[in-house]
Formats: sequence, C-alpha cells, structure tokens
Amino acid sequence: MTDTHCPYCSLQCGMTLRVGSSLASSGQAGSSRSRRLEVRERDFPVNEGALCRKGWTATGLRGHRERLTTPLLRDRATGELRAASWDEALDVVATRLRTLQEAHGPDTVAVFGGGGLTNEKAYLLGKLARVALRTSRIDYNGRWCMSSAASAANQALGIDRGLPFPLADIERTDVLVLVGSNLAETMPPAARHLDRLRERGGHVVVIDPRRTATAARADTVLQPVPGTDLALALGVLHLLDAAGAVDEEYVASRTTGFAAVRRTAAAWWPERVERVTGVSAGELRALAGLLAGAGTVTVLTARGAEQHSQGTATVLGWLNVALALGMPGKAHAGYGCLTGQGNGQGGREHGQKSDQLPGYRMIDDPAAREHVARVWGVDPESIPGKGLSAYELLESLGTGSRALLVFGSNIVVSAPNATRVTERLAALDLLVVADIVLSETAAMADVVLPVTQWAEESGTMTNLEGRVILRERAVTPPDGVRSDLDVYAGLASRLGSTAAFPTDPEEAFAELRLASAGGRADYAGITYDRIRAEDGVFWPCPAEDHPGTPRMFADSFATPDGRARFVDVEHAGAAEQPDADYPVHLTTGRVLAQYQSGAQTRRVRDLPDDGPFVELHPMLAARIGARDGEPVMVTTRRGSLRAPARIVDTIRPDTIFVPFHWVGANRLTNDALDPSSRMPEFKVCAAEVGLDTPSLVPRDGYSTNEGLVGRVASASERAVVGRVASASERIEIPAAHQRPGSGPTLGSPGFEARFSHTSTTGETPA
Ligand code: SF4
Repeated sequence: MTDTHCPYCSLQCGMTLRVGSSLASSGQAGSSRSRRLEVRERDFPVNEGALCRKGWTATGLRGHRERLTTPLLRDRATGELRAASWDEALDVVATRLRTLQEAHGPDTVAVFGGGGLTNEKAYLLGKLARVALRTSRIDYNGRWCMSSAASAANQALGIDRGLPFPLADIERTDVLVLVGSNLAETMPPAARHLDRLRERGGHVVVIDPRRTATAARADTVLQPVPGTDLALALGVLHLLDAAGAVDEEYVASRTTGFAAVRRTAAAWWPERVERVTGVSAGELRALAGLLAGAGTVTVLTARGAEQHSQGTATVLGWLNVALALGMPGKAHAGYGCLTGQGNGQGGREHGQKSDQLPGYRMIDDPAAREHVARVWGVDPESIPGKGLSAYELLESLGTGSRALLVFGSNIVVSAPNATRVTERLAALDLLVVADIVLSETAAMADVVLPVTQWAEESGTMTNLEGRVILRERAVTPPDGVRSDLDVYAGLASRLGSTAAFPTDPEEAFAELRLASAGGRADYAGITYDRIRAEDGVFWPCPAEDHPGTPRMFADSFATPDGRARFVDVEHAGAAEQPDADYPVHLTTGRVLAQYQSGAQTRRVRDLPDDGPFVELHPMLAARIGARDGEPVMVTTRRGSLRAPARIVDTIRPDTIFVPFHWVGANRLTNDALDPSSRMPEFKVCAAEVGLDTPSLVPRDGYSTNEGLVGRVASASERAVVGRVASASERIEIPAAHQRPGSGPTLGSPGFEARFSHTSTTGETPA
C-alpha cells in the first residue's frame, strides 16, 4: 500500500495505491506483471477520502497498449517513426541541438514544460535550459492556466500563491463569490465546501455565462456576457462605495491606491453595467447588498475570469472589491485563485517560466541571479535573461527558434489558434517530445522519448493551497522508459555540461530547497519526511523548525511596505467582439470526465469519451434550425469545428460553448494576449454557428471525424508504437477509419474504440 496523490488537477487529492491480486483470467496468476493497481480512498485533509471519477480511474493508463516503451526516431528517408535505443536517441538530440546552436546561437533551442511536472522536474528543466542549453527560451503551459491571477496577485498582494489559506476555510466564510469557476465539475471533492457553507447559513454566488453544476449548488447565479467580468466588478465596487460599505479604516491602514480605483468605479453605475454585461441592475444591486451586509466575503477566481486578454485586469477588479470590503488577511475571508493543473502552482515557482528563477525569483534581479548561480555553480553572467512567454515562444518556432524540447505538454491540442501553432511546430528543424503515449504533439516529433508516469516515480507537487505534497512511487516502470530527470541528465552530459543533474527526486528536491531559500516561494525547510508526517507543508517554510504558512496576510502583505495595492483597472472588453459575420460569443472549458488536452484521460477506458460538442441555447438552436445531437459547424476567424449540438437552456442565448479536451476547440480560439500575464484569450471570441450542410466546408479542413492536419502519425508509426507497447498486440487499423496514406487519427472514435484498453498489466511493486 502506498499513500500518494491523484495525477491530475490542482486539488491533488490524497489516495492510496494498492498492488492487488493477480488476474485469474490473464493466465499469469502469480506473476507480478499481472497484478492490478487499485485506487483506495485515503483520509487526506484536502479531499477527506473523496475522489472524482478521474481519480478513481487514474490507474487506467498503466499497462495501456499505447504506452510508449522505447524511444522513437523519425526516419528521414521514409518520414516515419522507428524504434531506437536510448543512447541513439539522446545522441541524435544532443548532436542536432549542438549543431543548431553553433550555427544560430543558444536561443535557437526552445524548451516547453508543463504544469503537471513535479517540482523536481520543473526545477531541473529550468536548469537544463539555462545551464546546459544556455537558452532564454523556456516557458510552459501553466502560462495558459492561472498566469493572469498570478500577475494580479503579485501586483496587489506582493506574492502569488493560488489560495493564501487552506481550501476548507471557504466553508466558514459568509459569502463566497466564485468568478468563472465550475469546481463542481473540475474538482468535485471541493464542492462539499459549498454545501457545508450553505448548511451553516452562508451564501454562494456563481458568476458564469453558463449555469453549470456549480451554479446548481449556489444561491445566486449571474450569467454575464463572456469577457465582461471586470465591468461587473467595477459595478459592484461602485455600489459598495455608494452604500458606504467600503471598510475605510482597513483601506487607510492596510492598502494604498484606493482613490484612483474609486474614481474609475464611480463611472460604472448599474444601468451601464447592465448594458455591458447583460446582468440586470437589480441583480447587481442585490449582489452588492449581499456583500455589504456580510461579515466575511471570499472571492475566488478561476479560468473563466482569467483566460482573457484582460485577465489580469479582471482579477485585479475583483481583488479591488475584496480589498474595499477589508477582507484579505481576515480569517475565513479574502481572495484566492483556484489553480487548474496538478502542479500549476509549483510549476511556476521553480524556473519553468521565462522570467523566473527558482524560489519565485525574478530573472532580472541581480541578487536572485547571484543566489541561484551559486547553487548551480555557474557565473551569474552566464544565466540567460528573460525569454518569451509560452505563446510567443511557439510563434517564434521555425524562425527565431529551430528546435523545441517538450516535456509534459500536448501543445497541438492545448495551444490557442492551434492551427497556426501546429504549422509552427511543423516548421521546426527538430521537435523532441517526452511523453508516456503518442500524443498529438508527440506524433509530430522527430524524436519521441518515453518517460515514466505517475505511480512509477516520486516527486513533490504544490497544490492550489500552496501545500507541498509528495507523490510516492508505487510500482516499477515498464522496461524501456526513463524518468524526465534521467533524460535531463543524459542530455546535459552529452551537451558537455558539468553541472549536477540529479536523477534521484529527493536529491533534486534537496537542491531545489537550496535554490529557493530566501525567495518568495521558500521551500528550504520542507523535506520529504516532513511532508509525509504533516500531510503536506505550506510554503513559505524557510527552516526545518518553521511550521510552514497555511494562512497569509494576517498582519502584513508581501509588498515592500506591507500594504496591499489597489490597482486602477478599466474594462475594455474582449479583443474580438461579435459582428455580422461572427455573431455569437464562443467560450471554451472543461467536462467532468476529461483532463486538460485529454492525452491521458481520453485513453482511460472507464472514462466516458463522447468527443467535443457544441452547447447552445434553444433560442439560438431554433434560429439556425439545429437539432439536439445533430452536427453543427462553428467557425471563427481561425478555423472551423464540426460537432454535435447539445441544446440546453443553461447557457446564454448569445453564447456557445465547446470543451477543449479534443483537437478542434483551440483551432477556434483567439491568441490575443493579456499585456501583463501573456495569457491568451481562450475564454471568448466571436464565432458563427450554423447547420452542418455540405456547403459548409471546414475552414482548416478539420472536423471531429477527420482529426489532425499536419504531420500525423502514419499507420506504420502506430504499428511501431503497438509493437513497443506490447509485443503480442499488433495494432490493426479499422478500414472505416483509414484514409489514403495515413492511419486512424488520434482522438477519432475509431482510434479510441480500438486502442483504449486495460490498466491491469505490468504492475510490479516498487
Ligand atoms: S478532483 Fe482533481 S485531484 Fe481530486 S480526484 Fe479529481 S482530478 Fe484528481
């Protein structure tokens, strides 16, 4: 039995893994390779034994037929992937990286990480980029997750920790305002806090263009036009001020900058807010009255508020509301961000972000560079400066950067304006992807490196509360795969680096502790043993005898003068507004059974995979003649998607919704960036929706039945993967899903039906 945590979202629910009995039907009774890996509940404070269906089925990728177990190299003659040894693969990568850098300079190599990587991997990936590759071009997909909230919290509170209090504190607040969060579907065990809050007389407010499963557990639901949450916040502040509900004493003693914010909010009277947001003046007054009369108020934002070209300003707008009410720093009150990815928090603290060094140090701070250089044993001058943000980095591919190393990310599905990004990936001289399966991005790679997954390796994660937890290794990995840490070490030595790249996670964590010491995210006092003994440790924790910091801001904020900052922000609206050609708002989001790009969850047999759909209101459906379950076509200025209509009265009539776990949704989304966080505007763009008639040809040739454009894995490449995954399981391609010259496309129904399989082989106790 191994106590560990779920591999998916930022709640990082505790669970126990048990290597179970042998499978009688397998004919391998008694063999360790035939043992089941079972998920058992564990009484961990964050989830109290509860898991969502993704957690319960988390072992579904173990022993999967699609699991990669040998490196793959693209054969230049045939253009197809073939199996290779680790030495050959790493030699090829190092040689080609060196050649490209000699010809074009260090920044010709870019590195792209992920918010699912452990702290140890994120830390050493940053070191690999800056020390072994000496490139400034490193960023990660967490930039597309909570970076707007991070930017806002840094500006207003002086520090970015998703929740500055344990999640359970929200049960004790009087009014909880959720702005753009559907936690009942994205992290269901957290929804019990809403129920308990309401049982004790508290009030839950949900602000979302869709009446979601979370809204069903709320007392007040407001459905603004997508992209207008900031106008709503300004209207709330206007009414609070007019009602004399601003906590003047708190504002005077604990904050700065309110005068300018007050002036801006004065121009947002309720009827103006109603015209912009679609939320009636009466609803707005009721919300303001509720907040004005509450003893404690907690505001939480999530992707719905943050993934906008005005995401940072929107979060600042709601932070201004919380500060005006005097809430941050008060018990059971304040502001927080519900981080999304499993290690979205830790992933951005320790060096994957283009502008940061470990410990949440800024890369242009001379003292920070000196500290980290000392830990790394290099000259501070040798550490490159600030690089490009995630989307800008991808935009530079093929021109500014000619090689890309990808760890823990499936860019082809998750990037905005994905057709453009796919073209940039295809323009590279060298694409290297480390993954556990042949994701859509790996299928385009020149070199694919098969790496260990959750349960096969140990490492720390930092959950949405800033609680550092430990995922423990429960089983030995399959033959042929290596950990990301092994890959870094192998590449670094081939590149001639003499710096240390530990392959043992605990050793890597010891170095991370030194590198973070004295930084904003200080992990110096956290050890694996403490994490085990204390159900996780909250950062900052500067010494082993320090208790950690579950709650922040009681006495002081993390700014130089200890005061929070009101930041004057003004509503400008979405970068792309509806017009005659694209008359509706498109918003994107998640469904309960899938996680992020779906590279993992789409392959878990016990999770429903119905593919993408287009959610629309009955009035809109009637106008275009759409019928439930029948295909409609969504078109934006960037691409088209054909998917079944799902007609519901829970969405605004002027808005459609598409989930993004499959290839398609992000071919529609807008790559307009927030000026501060560089967050793309995933959450709103202008779209046209119509019947799927033969005259409507997808703008980029894509539909849910046709799959990827670009360089897809061919039939023989899939056969390689099939042989690698299981010598006895040769992949056959259903004729119905074959196209001339290619195999079944990733994510297509035939592909999933054929290749989703089992989680019960290859489980060997560690
Ligand atoms: S809520 Fe998140 S961490 Fe918990 S079981 Fe579900 S996916 Fe895993």
